[in-house]
Amino acid sequence: MTIETYDALIVGARCAGAATALQLARSGAKVLLIDSARGGSDTMSTHALMRGAVMLLERWGLAAPLRAAGTPQIARTSFIYGEDAFDIDLRPEHGVETLMAPRRHLLDRMLAEAAAEAGAELRFETSCTELIKDAQGRVTGARVSLPDGRTREVSAGLVIGADGKRSRVARLVGAEVTRQARHTVACAYQYVSGLPNRGFRWHFAEAAAGGIIPTNGGGSCAFVALPEHAAAELRSASVQELAARHMPVMAEDMTGAEPLEARVIFAGLKGYMRRCAGPGWALVGDASWFRDPITAHGITDAFRDSEMLVKAVKTGTLGCYEAQRDRLSLPIFELSDRIASFDWSLGDLAGLHKQLNRVMKANQAWIAGTRDEVRRVA
Ligand SMILES: Cc1cc2nc3c(=O)[nH]c(=O)nc-3n(C[C@H](O)[C@H](O)[C@H](O)COP(=O)(O)OP(=O)(O)OC[C@H]3O[C@@H](n4cnc5c(N)ncnc54)[C@H](O)[C@@H]3O)c2cc1C
Repeated sequence: MTIETYDALIVGARCAGAATALQLARSGAKVLLIDSARGGSDTMSTHALMRGAVMLLERWGLAAPLRAAGTPQIARTSFIYGEDAFDIDLRPEHGVETLMAPRRHLLDRMLAEAAAEAGAELRFETSCTELIKDAQGRVTGARVSLPDGRTREVSAGLVIGADGKRSRVARLVGAEVTRQARHTVACAYQYVSGLPNRGFRWHFAEAAAGGIIPTNGGGSCAFVALPEHAAAELRSASVQELAARHMPVMAEDMTGAEPLEARVIFAGLKGYMRRCAGPGWALVGDASWFRDPITAHGITDAFRDSEMLVKAVKTGTLGCYEAQRDRLSLPIFELSDRIASFDWSLGDLAGLHKQLNRVMKANQAWIAGTRDEVRRVA
């Protein structure tokens, strides 16, 4: 069997892996990007993008194609605490005038195709089954199973696990969990038609949260999140009924909504941070760390970390990647855990959201700065 050699093998071709592949391939690296899933498939996730994510999509040249694909543009974010609504009209900053929430089958496909256009070899229905290590324990490649059932051996300077929450790469390198969150929410979401684009609408009540997120195809993603112990209740009713029970203002917002697709249930998963780099390997996206989805930050963080990882690879500073990830991520991790506890009054929660906003601004400043730094080292 001939063993092919790459600069990087990236396991997982969604928002973390495809974004990393795109940047590495554009910088001239020889990249193999694989995913066990079919190309263009959906995944469990709502998909509200924060300003940092849209900044990066603009930088990578993908914001315009997403707009051209009919992704609704979000000009307002509303936080509705019980009956009190705080509407925030988006101000142009860092070159971003509107937010968006593209469906994952569109966003992930566009990222993967852009990586392939940049020269990455893209293989779907192809799984990493084992890692290959040298005598010193350094990861030097992987065995991958192909769609026809055959196995291929791949040699790579760096194996990047972008393979999500249950990362096999993390398990095979023994990436230690360095932090564990204490709380998680359970959540039900459903795509519905018939609602106008009123921006991102985030609803909160005692021990409940919800949202309405306009997305592609004239649909909106409506979700209700409850404490983990109430997960069974999410299975007992539609999202509209759950909203009526817990957040009457959200139920009013949903007047006229018609289900487009079956409801999806996320039973909850406590956040974690893992060691994210070692000899011959690195992790990015949910493989690296996971914060509770209540703050809707995973994709924005995955994009940011892909920039951070690529910069570390290009500058030979992989050893600093974890410390930098922690510096920018810990406040988001801790605030997400605090909000997921549901142990707050609506007044406390508004304060937590203000703190989160300050953290997001610091992240955006970091993202804005990397453009120049990366250019200097490239
Ligand atoms: C209910 C819910 C709501 C959320 N809402 C939001 C939100 O509104 N906004 C937001 O920004 N984030 C949100 N998130 C978080 C977001 O979905 C994740 O952070 C994001 O999907 C992480 O992307 P990823 O590329 O790291 O991993 P994933 O999207 O999980 O992709 C991992 C890929 O790796 C592949 N893979 C796994 N193992 C292998 C293997 N051995 N070989 C090859 N391929 C493999 C899988 O097939 C998969 O395609 C939400 C999450 C949940 C659960």
